[in-house]
Amino acid sequence: MKIAIVSGKGGTGKTTIATNLAKLINNSFYVDMDVEEPNGRLFLKPEIVNEENYYVMIPEINEDKCTYCGLCANNCAFNALSIIKSIKKTLFFEDLCHHCGVCSYVCPENAIKEVDKCIGKINYGKFDSENINFIEGVLNLNEATGTPIINGISRLLNEEKVYILDAPPGTNCPVVSAINSADFVILAIEPTPFGIHDGELALEIVKGTNKPCGVVINKYSNENLDRFINKNELNILGKIPFKREIAERYSKGDLLIDMNDDLRNAFIAIIKNINKLNSREIRWKEQ
Ligand code: SF4
Ligand code: SF4
Repeated sequence: MKIAIVSGKGGTGKTTIATNLAKLINNSFYVDMDVEEPNGRLFLKPEIVNEENYYVMIPEINEDKCTYCGLCANNCAFNALSIIKSIKKTLFFEDLCHHCGVCSYVCPENAIKEVDKCIGKINYGKFDSENINFIEGVLNLNEATGTPIINGISRLLNEEKVYILDAPPGTNCPVVSAINSADFVILAIEPTPFGIHDGELALEIVKGTNKPCGVVINKYSNENLDRFINKNELNILGKIPFKREIAERYSKGDLLIDMNDDLRNAFIAIIKNINKLNSREIRWKEQ
């Protein structure tokens, strides 16, 4: 089972929820898909046992073979190529390329070769286990999008374990990729004007995927969210209180489930509520 934790914006507690669930759930596997800024390792403190570079294919045009016919550019759905026949010039806009391979496929002169380009890496590690149970995608600086790495990580996952997918924040393509690889989505939301506004945007994306979804309210202190919850008929999976002590321990890289029984029970309640909405039962580790 794959559970994606998403949020409309950063700072709503997405990684807090993901790391605490990963540590609490039996046979779980934490997957950091927030590839632009992965930080789950600060809380789970895994031993990294393997690092692999992640490559995508980009086109390389051989101008000796090219006749500047323009077929490649005309067939690129992402406008990543431009051919200027009058001055015999080819332009490749790498940040727009989606690595689909269409340009090399349609080129009649066999003038396009696909070459590897490293855009980041995938790290493998373990926490609380003899076996690997931690995966982290890391996007290189200056790369346009982490979507290829997220999709690459998704292909590594199977149905055996409970995967906790720590998605990127926001409402962009990488978030959609993370949601698409999940069976269930947890929307982390905070009761602030920005939190509600961006939470609604994230909810629209989740609704569009038709995935079962529940909400965890972080920094819960009042009833600000009732209208949002009722209007959208959302399942509330749990509430994490707004307390200074939590912020202080968080800033030191501590997990909430290790702080006290109340917080541990709050996360157990989240798991129980997920179970009510799914056929597969998730178990948690006893103390
Ligand atoms: S399709 Fe091939 S020959 Fe035509 S412009 Fe592109 S690279 Fe050149
Ligand atoms: S690989 Fe696909 S997206 Fe990239 S330039 Fe070629 S056709 Fe365009």
